[in-house]
Amino acid sequence: TVVTRFAPSPTGYLHVGGARTALYSWLVAKAAGGEFVLRIEDTDRERSTQPAIDAILEGMNWLGLSWDQGPYYQTKRFDRYTHFIDTLLDEDKAYKCYCSTERLEKMREEQMERGEKPRYDGHCRDNPNVGGERYVVRFRNPQSGSVKFNDHIRGPIEFANTELDDLIICRSDGTPTYNFCVVIDDWEMGISHVVRGEDHINNTPRQINILQALGAPVPEYAHVSMILGDDGKKLSKRHGAVSVMQYRDDGYLPQAVLNYLVRLGWSHGDQEIFSVDEMVQHFRLDDVNKAASAFNTEKLNWLNQHYMKELPATEVAEHLQWHFSDQAIDVSNGPELEKIIPLLADRVKTLKEMASSARYFFEEFESFDETAAKKHLRPVARQALETVQSRLASLDEWNAATIQAAIQGTADELGVGMGKVGMPLRVAATGSGNSPSLDVTLELLAQKQVVGRISRAIS
Ligand code: GLU
Repeated sequence: TVVTRFAPSPTGYLHVGGARTALYSWLVAKAAGGEFVLRIEDTDRERSTQPAIDAILEGMNWLGLSWDQGPYYQTKRFDRYTHFIDTLLDEDKAYKCYCSTERLEKMREEQMERGEKPRYDGHCRDNPNVGGERYVVRFRNPQSGSVKFNDHIRGPIEFANTELDDLIICRSDGTPTYNFCVVIDDWEMGISHVVRGEDHINNTPRQINILQALGAPVPEYAHVSMILGDDGKKLSKRHGAVSVMQYRDDGYLPQAVLNYLVRLGWSHGDQEIFSVDEMVQHFRLDDVNKAASAFNTEKLNWLNQHYMKELPATEVAEHLQWHFSDQAIDVSNGPELEKIIPLLADRVKTLKEMASSARYFFEEFESFDETAAKKHLRPVARQALETVQSRLASLDEWNAATIQAAIQGTADELGVGMGKVGMPLRVAATGSGNSPSLDVTLELLAQKQVVGRISRAIS
């Protein structure tokens, strides 16, 4: 069975690179009807924080990347790691190393002077006579041959064992080291496919050697490339949002972000739009690009607009509600959100903009937009507004058609173009010179409210 995992170190928020890795890993599991594990790699106690754990879980939840197992926490699994360190020691597949820091430093310096890559010289490896109080445990890495694996993204990869020294698996304070925890977890959690960032490629041969020493099966690997900013440099805060939750705050739909992320380094013909079901259906690790991918905000905006228009309004409404709350706009009195979404989706790029531009549906605005008021309200519009106000006030039925007829009737009566009535009315009713089509906009406001706002404009 296919079991994949996402294994973040909780030292910060869930960034877009991590989210894409999580998505790819999740898709591999879903496509195979397998399971997806969430594992929090919190062994670095200095840098791991609870707020970071919360932020990662929040990001995963917001994206809808649900996990079937976990979250597991490495700090709660130390007895498992210790157990297997003892096993390896018992089987002489690991050994205690008593080398002092001074000795190791001197060794390293000498190696560097000779132009060699610093690596442990194996002093304690075959020297059972050394002893002492303080020791670390080192893995007895094979000294010949090589480690090969077939990376799903990068193809065949081979490391000579002479490149790898005897890795410390347990520190002198008894705590297991990072690579060892990963090995035990991947094994015990039955991980079949390891999907992770390319920065872990050099860990893979070490992990494979340890797995083999333990008699554990070796999973398949896929190392995902970096995401670059639009300037070709490593993606960072400089490029704007890098935290997934920042995208929520900025007004993006999770569907747009997922669609954006899946295409960032993967393609299926020339298809751009993928529902989650389609991603599950078509995604293959082997189709992921080896080259780094560059972030493109324009494309994310385009996708966001697509999903604001195409997703069922009830679904968009849930996310839009968050932005109304965030902007302290109380939507309990006013039209249903499902009704304003189709009016606004074409006119804005984000849900954040959608909420702020829809304020007048729910609240009396404080003042008229200055430019629009100058142009359309004063000084000439009094007659148009008074006439249209009385026509609107006397409507027995309040809908787009009757409203449209009232506006048209006013224009005819006064012998002016529709704009001469419509624009002042728009500014009077919405406070701004920019709103969706007037008939449908006014329909969503209450008749009394519109009449009152016109009075305010001409008072
Ligand atoms: N905890 C590692 C990280 O956040 C990932 C390790 C792995 O996927 O094997 O970079």
